[in-house]
Amino acid sequence: MRYTFTAVSIILFLTVSGAPSFGQNAGGAAKTYSLIPGLDKSLMDTSADPCTDFYQYACGNWSKLHPIPSDAPYSDQFYNLDQYNRQVLRNILVRAAKTDSARDANTQKIGDYYAGCLDDSAIQVKGFSVLRPELDRIDHLTSKSQLPELLAHFQLINVDAFLGFGSQQDFQDATKTVAVASQSGIGLPEKDYYLRTGAKDEEIRKQYVQHVTNVLKLIGEPDAQAATDAQAIMKLETALAKVSLDVTAQREPHNVYHWMPKKDLRALAPVLNWDQLFASTGSPAFAELNVAEPDFFKGLNDIIAQTDLAVIKPYLRWHLAESLPGTVLPKALDDEKFDFYGRKLVGTPEQEARWKRCVRSTDGALPEALGKAYVEEQFPASSKERAVAIIHDIEAAMDRDLSSLDWMSPETKARAREKLHLIANKVGYPDKWRDYSKLEIVRGDAFGNTLRATEFESHRQLAKIGKPVDRNEWITSTPTVNAFYNPSMNDINFPAGVLQPAFFDSKQPDSVNYGHIGLFMGHEITHGFDDQGRQFDGHGNLKDWWTKEDADKFTSKSQCLVDEYAKFVVGDTHLNGKLTLGENTADNGGLRLAYMAFIARAAQEGIDQKSKSTDGYTPAQQFFIGFAQDWCSDWRPELERLIATTDPHSPDRFRTNGVLVNMREFSDAFSCKIGQAMAPAKACRIW
Ligand SMILES: [Zn+2]
Repeated sequence: MRYTFTAVSIILFLTVSGAPSFGQNAGGAAKTYSLIPGLDKSLMDTSADPCTDFYQYACGNWSKLHPIPSDAPYSDQFYNLDQYNRQVLRNILVRAAKTDSARDANTQKIGDYYAGCLDDSAIQVKGFSVLRPELDRIDHLTSKSQLPELLAHFQLINVDAFLGFGSQQDFQDATKTVAVASQSGIGLPEKDYYLRTGAKDEEIRKQYVQHVTNVLKLIGEPDAQAATDAQAIMKLETALAKVSLDVTAQREPHNVYHWMPKKDLRALAPVLNWDQLFASTGSPAFAELNVAEPDFFKGLNDIIAQTDLAVIKPYLRWHLAESLPGTVLPKALDDEKFDFYGRKLVGTPEQEARWKRCVRSTDGALPEALGKAYVEEQFPASSKERAVAIIHDIEAAMDRDLSSLDWMSPETKARAREKLHLIANKVGYPDKWRDYSKLEIVRGDAFGNTLRATEFESHRQLAKIGKPVDRNEWITSTPTVNAFYNPSMNDINFPAGVLQPAFFDSKQPDSVNYGHIGLFMGHEITHGFDDQGRQFDGHGNLKDWWTKEDADKFTSKSQCLVDEYAKFVVGDTHLNGKLTLGENTADNGGLRLAYMAFIARAAQEGIDQKSKSTDGYTPAQQFFIGFAQDWCSDWRPELERLIATTDPHSPDRFRTNGVLVNMREFSDAFSCKIGQAMAPAKACRIW
């Protein structure tokens, strides 16, 4: 189920954590992770010329000092902090799992969920029997008319076969939560994976069909049957891909918002009894909904009508096995899933240790129960105060920046300023924690716990349909190492997990903090004014507040960034300048805002911009090195290709150099001459 169908923009890619990950191994478990300082000279390659390749200068030693572990597809600052956090969470969970003293209700739940997940041998003893009731539901299908009830149940346990159904904040009226039906049902990362030509894509498709075959065999199909079914599933998913919107088109809010009465959906896709499907999920009744991609549903109708039940049944079995987390499934299936999604697709040699996967799944299942314990242990009130103060500085910088723009009319400026002042800041953790009293977690029942937690969350999301939006709700868990802007809420989100070194430390100089976390804050605020976010007003409604002339100027200024990033190449792939436009806009605007805020703060505190600190750098140089070190990383080529083709974020070295070439303040700080690689004569600027 696609719970919250919003155009949430994040600071870094999440693709990897979305892929199934499985299997137990010895590797990866031994290394202990520690926090990296905000300005780490050991990461720098000072033999490189900062005016030729600043990323190399600031991050050239990253790969040597932080090589990609065998159980990961990449290594970067986010990865390091996430691993550090998982150690902290593990300690909390190990204590919570102890049954020798009285535990409060939430401690029992997180402790027993974690203990159940860790108990590999109990999971192996149960083996494939845990899947039997779900497979029986598929086996008992005798007619397509029974599909709605089954698909509804699958939605509740997060098996997105054929489609997704859930709730979302209404694009037209951001005070309301509405129902949404959306495209889904393919197992490769994106539409184009089914359609692109070229040796690499053909190889992935061949490996995918083999993987589907292997999974079908493991869950009980005879060998020859599994091979035939996998081919038919590939054909079916290719048909679904053809009628789906691609990732770039999905970024345009109007492309994924089609408000209609239920009867219009019935007319669009009569093959499914929609009333029965929606009612079977237990969702509140509704008369109208967002059918996000009408062409998909029209196509889906023909696909289901023309596909034999003898093909639909293995398709459903495959998606069941693909969607359920590997940690609670038999090892053979877990390993097979890792082999394709981990090894082949993103190039990771080994599965993560079980404890790491169990920490992540407990965080996913009980985010606000574990999050509360995490905050009590790890997040001092002083961190929240300091982070909020930096955000206020950056908002003030945006206000000044808007006033100074020479291309925008006073009317649009006034509305932009109104939107800026309505941005809500969610920092650290929610004011009110979610109640899990109705969710039963049983020690020793890992599979059941996962299913119950998933259904609990699905019902919670569906129950919101028709209700007013709760603006205090958090959509991300507290320990998450990421940051978000949500255009429907018009809020920026900085969970406690990301407010730590290297990104933020109340003990490090302002220059370094503003370069690191200040960039993230500026980035998220700028998302409210990128090609996507600018279409929403300050209350979160999809409503045009631009004059025609200003909108045209915005689009033509954006084109400069589209062209700049489309020139960057990863392996055999050019970046998609349109897909990455929103993130690149946010990176460019974000760094400018962070720098303006830093200069103002430094002036207020009487920091001398000319003198070098004990580390040998001026405050401005510290700022830019701090910024660049946000993005120090090393990626496996398979992951880099996946990101370049499907992710709205540019690869890290371009997130660094691609932004700095547009900032004279940077070339001044390092005395680069116009015409050098990092100081081209032509610069792009929107905000
Ligand atoms: Zn972003």
